[in-house]
Amino acid sequence: MIIQENVPLSTITTMRLGGPADYVVDVESVDEALEAIEFAEEKNLPIYFLGTGANSLGLDEGFRGVIIRNHIKGFEILSETGNEIIVKAGGGEIWDDFVEYITDRGYSGIEAMSKIPGTVGAAPVQNIGAYGQDVSNTLESVEAFDTMLDEYVEIPAKDCDFSYRHSIFNSGETSGRYFILNCTFRFKKGKLTPPFYNSLQAYLDEHSITDYSPKNIRQAVSEIRAGKLPDPAAIASAGSFFKNFILTDAEADEAEKKGIPVYRSATENKVNTGWLLENAGLKGKSFHGFKVSDKAALILINESGESYADLKQAEEEIAKIVYDKYGFKIEPEPVIIKEREQHD
Ligand SMILES: Cc1cc2nc3c(=O)[nH]c(=O)nc-3n(C[C@H](O)[C@H](O)[C@H](O)COP(=O)(O)OP(=O)(O)OC[C@H]3O[C@@H](n4cnc5c(N)ncnc54)[C@H](O)[C@@H]3O)c2cc1C
Repeated sequence: MIIQENVPLSTITTMRLGGPADYVVDVESVDEALEAIEFAEEKNLPIYFLGTGANSLGLDEGFRGVIIRNHIKGFEILSETGNEIIVKAGGGEIWDDFVEYITDRGYSGIEAMSKIPGTVGAAPVQNIGAYGQDVSNTLESVEAFDTMLDEYVEIPAKDCDFSYRHSIFNSGETSGRYFILNCTFRFKKGKLTPPFYNSLQAYLDEHSITDYSPKNIRQAVSEIRAGKLPDPAAIASAGSFFKNFILTDAEADEAEKKGIPVYRSATENKVNTGWLLENAGLKGKSFHGFKVSDKAALILINESGESYADLKQAEEEIAKIVYDKYGFKIEPEPVIIKEREQHD
């Protein structure tokens, strides 16, 4: 277990903002995770769990508490039959390494989520997703440490209350309560079936790809993303800065009447906030050092923003422009690093 003091949040989050955290503790095993939690409890300091900081924002005042970063590694095949595999992955594994591991073995279920930055342990928190897949489709359970009851728990996926960018881990009184140590997934051999998202379908058509094997889809998604999404190692951002909208059928009809495209699938009606930003003329525009990406409007790039206060101002000005034009109140997707709210 490595303990560092006074670590700027700007150095451990991909948006590269924020003042110092009192402590950052890196853990590589379940035992170390428990030690780190005890360390915080002894000091009577709040805890914030972190992976690679690709969806977390640091405040200018920093964090008076202990940030515990998960580096628990390893993939363990729990069972493998002819066409199904059950795998446990360490919460500190890099998500895309896991996607590669699974697709290389010919299993399907997460290939469309290739190249999403971050750790396996963070993936269930906001139920990450891309190109029609999300984590809830294949997750079986998570092993976690429950900081309220001070005990290890195994939480089946059905109890995680998954929906679009939502789970028990990021909402209500259970938000921030569990330290996710390992995640278990079930995958089947097989291929995705069309219809695919427009950009993915266009790429497949353009390259005459009709074999929708997990490896081919991974390859296609990786290339599409490389062309439009910033590499967190080179460009500061938190990925999609604003959430998309999931609408009821009636709301979807209303949106379409206003000329807003709605992506309708069997399970949801989605409005792409990137479309709203782009059509409100915001693509490529800068606000207080933060630029609406000219390649993917949902991404806000930190070009020269120096403070969270600047980011907040940028966010509010962008949101007002979209609201005035389309009547949609856009909301940020990344999470602020702060003490979890106490619930009675
Ligand atoms: C360029 C870019 C592209 C992106 N594209 C996508 C995309 O296509 N789809 C998508 O869904 N997201 C996307 N994201 C967002 C991000 O990649 C995901 O949210 C990812 O899961 C973040 O992983 P992380 O380890 O960096 O999480 P962090 O930012 O470190 O943490 C995120 C949240 O999870 C919590 N958390 C982290 N680890 C644990 C743990 N072990 N136990 C309990 N809680 C934990 C944190 O407290 C925080 O609330 C993108 C981000 C970037 C920068």
